[in-house]
Amino acid sequence: MENNPPKKNSRLHISKGKTVKSNINKAFKPKQVEQLSLQEFINGIRSSNRVVLSQAITLIESRQEKHQILAQKIIEKCLPYSGNSLRIGLTGTPGVGKSTFINGFGKVILNNGENLAVLAIDPSSQTTKGSILGDKTRMEELTIEPKVFIRPSPANDSLGGVARKTRETIILCEAAGYNNIIIETVGVGQSETAVHSMVDFFLLLLLPNSGDELQGIKRGIMEMADLIAINKADGEGIEAAKLTSKQYKNALHLLPAKHSGWTAKAEICSALNNTGLDKIWSSIKNYHKTTIDNGFFAQNRKQQAKYWLEESVSQQLKTLFFQNPEIKKEYTKIEKNVIEGDLSPFTAGKLLLELFKKQTD
Ligand code: GDP
Repeated sequence: MENNPPKKNSRLHISKGKTVKSNINKAFKPKQVEQLSLQEFINGIRSSNRVVLSQAITLIESRQEKHQILAQKIIEKCLPYSGNSLRIGLTGTPGVGKSTFINGFGKVILNNGENLAVLAIDPSSQTTKGSILGDKTRMEELTIEPKVFIRPSPANDSLGGVARKTRETIILCEAAGYNNIIIETVGVGQSETAVHSMVDFFLLLLLPNSGDELQGIKRGIMEMADLIAINKADGEGIEAAKLTSKQYKNALHLLPAKHSGWTAKAEICSALNNTGLDKIWSSIKNYHKTTIDNGFFAQNRKQQAKYWLEESVSQQLKTLFFQNPEIKKEYTKIEKNVIEGDLSPFTAGKLLLELFKKQTD
């Protein structure tokens, strides 16, 4: 890690594009993305230079073919150094306090002598232009920490695209020596499943709810959680938070046992007042040790790699299919027949695939 603390508002830490500037080390003049050689990228990443790390991530996010080619080479070279972090998924509806939580929790991680990268999965950015990490004022204390790296997900991208890029970014962050990686997502829609399939630990943040109904959290998301934290357990919210956590403890007991051998927990915390965060951290550490000891940690990573291989193949096949000129020509006609009920979707699908196969033979 660099020694000199960066100035506030340096664009380095919440890095977005290739115009990333460094206030950290004046002696280091960042080159434009195009100017760095593969070896310079690797050296920079391996020596935890966040400017170079940011630039490499920019390559991953770029749609230009030459950037993609270089990005894949960088990833390949970084792979042997990857895998050594604890990957934590964090989800919760907007307003639950995710940014505030990361800010407080990040400090707990730093106090324990470790470092942290924060990445985001935000498919909603297509419509909200990257809102999830857009306003990171609540992470301000973290952004000035030299041992922290924060990266929003690219705006205007599909979930599949963001997920692939996030997975590749994890590899680079690990090669840069980050031993904790938080992957943040908004608790709406499909993104939790994508995040769950790339993390070791899944943390769900909820609000205190004084009513006796469980919040409208889908059972599937609750099943994924290794820990449910009821945030905003402060002031008048404390009693409600305690009650909510009790309800979730009961609900968690009713769920089937996890393959990890870990029993999901429900805790209360106040991200604002930094209470309960140490306990959550020690739970996560406990989980880490338990799953390493019982072999689940390694097994799960292997399963995830298999899953992402399959995902990658289907994504590429889909792209090839829809970009095929013959398919492009025929698709709308066949689609119209399907809509009007003249052709079943399955027959139509088969027809299109036959056509596609002919093109690729
Ligand atoms: P996000 O949208 O999930 O990232 O939520 P934010 O971190 O932006 O927080 C939303 C609002 O909730 C802000 O006004 C925070 O100050 C407030 N907030 C976050 N954590 C707490 C907490 O522990 N207690 C209280 N009382 N407010 C909190």
